[in-house]
Amino acid sequence: MTSQHDDLIAIDAVAPAEVCELDSRRRREKIYTRRIEGRYQRIRLYTGWPLLMGYLILPWVSINQRPVILFDLADRKFHIFNLTLWPQDLVLLGFLLIIAAFALFAVTTIWGRLWCGYTCPQTIWTAIFMYIEQRFEGSRNQRIKLDMEPPSWTKLRKKTLKHAGWVLVALVTGITFVGYFVPIRSLIPDLLTLSAANGAMAFTLLFSVATYLNAGYMREKVCTQLCPYARFQSVMFDQNTLVVAYDTHRGEPRGSRKRFAQRGEHQGDCIDCELCVQVCPTGIDIRNGLQYECIGCALCIDACDSIMAKMGSPKGLVSYSSGEGSSRRRSPVISPKALGYGTALVIMMTVFAGTLLTRNIVELTASRDRSQLYVPAPGELVDNIYELHITNRDHSAHRFEIGVQGLDHGSIIGNTTVTIPGGEMLEVDLRYRANPRLLRDVGTDIEFTVIMEGSSTVQAVAPSRFIRPSIN
Ligand code: SF4
Ligand code: SF4
Repeated sequence: MTSQHDDLIAIDAVAPAEVCELDSRRRREKIYTRRIEGRYQRIRLYTGWPLLMGYLILPWVSINQRPVILFDLADRKFHIFNLTLWPQDLVLLGFLLIIAAFALFAVTTIWGRLWCGYTCPQTIWTAIFMYIEQRFEGSRNQRIKLDMEPPSWTKLRKKTLKHAGWVLVALVTGITFVGYFVPIRSLIPDLLTLSAANGAMAFTLLFSVATYLNAGYMREKVCTQLCPYARFQSVMFDQNTLVVAYDTHRGEPRGSRKRFAQRGEHQGDCIDCELCVQVCPTGIDIRNGLQYECIGCALCIDACDSIMAKMGSPKGLVSYSSGEGSSRRRSPVISPKALGYGTALVIMMTVFAGTLLTRNIVELTASRDRSQLYVPAPGELVDNIYELHITNRDHSAHRFEIGVQGLDHGSIIGNTTVTIPGGEMLEVDLRYRANPRLLRDVGTDIEFTVIMEGSSTVQAVAPSRFIRPSIN
């Protein structure tokens, strides 16, 4: 692997003429980023690794033999830590997504494209793929030269190793993704023996190919041409939003000078080395001002800071600031837009938490057996047959007592107490028996009830009807 110092330009000189000439030609076709280290790249490492590890490890984690996260489409249940969401809870899931969107809006208004630069999967996976590329093909200049070289065994070996690394990462990513929908401990052996369900195999392949193409080839094009967030982020920006910006007042007029040399009276701090452009994953020049292609990764800040340190000038020519250049500092007052997003976020999170905490842990539905209105029973009584669905939405098992309201003299035939494991739904077939002569109408409204053991209040109610034969 090449070190950063191999990769850094000599400040007083420029990159080899051959590479410079290739630079301008190649930049239009393919972006060859130069590797850089610095303060913000360390922060990106600290944010990227936990997220990556979390993504890879979470499908493997179970508590009490229950996966902490599993979007079980077959059983139509979403397990998210202690929470089990059912199809009827999809509105809660939708609400959660709206909250996430508002959180993103609030963060963007205050800190700009923090999500894109530090936490977006596209950014993290592209960084992993770039690392593999640099590991096998070398520094930026070496990669440009390698691509220009005629075919050779060395070139074939380097390219093969790079693509093998990419394929491996893409496969791990694809399998892990499907592992959020199908238990991963059974998925992997099933995939290896080609006995997994067609859907699981197709989505593993699809997601692996998408990862390979997105992080290996599409890279910045996903951010600049596909991602809708890049297009409307400017709507969320205000004068106080933190963006990566070049300080034009300090940097211009740009021009080369010797290391540690006093700059001329009409000379800015920018030495026009273009390192900030060469490290940029989207291939833009931050000195041209705020552009929608900028994902806020701060690579150009680290690059320029390293140059300023070598030149003996203060760091921060390119920096996080609000507005055009670091001479414009953020106002200590929170902008009305940020305040609005923040307030909306707090209200929505409160409503969501309230809904979740007061959510009924039992759900009950009742349906009559439509094939027969009633069944004659001994002693001139009649039975009606029902099918109840009782869902225990809690994560632990509970005993429930089934009852009926609306008829004083009837009774349930059979067991009225059921135990349901956490996150499970039980189907109960039961008969309700009553004396038809005591019923005024042919059809009487009744309600099935469910009471949790140890509780005195009814947890769930399901309406139904009791039908008797006509009496002459
Ligand atoms: S301009 Fe700077 S912050 Fe923006 S994408 Fe390029 S390197 Fe990253
Ligand atoms: S802004 Fe900094 S890194 Fe970019 S060209 Fe000027 S001196 Fe070089």
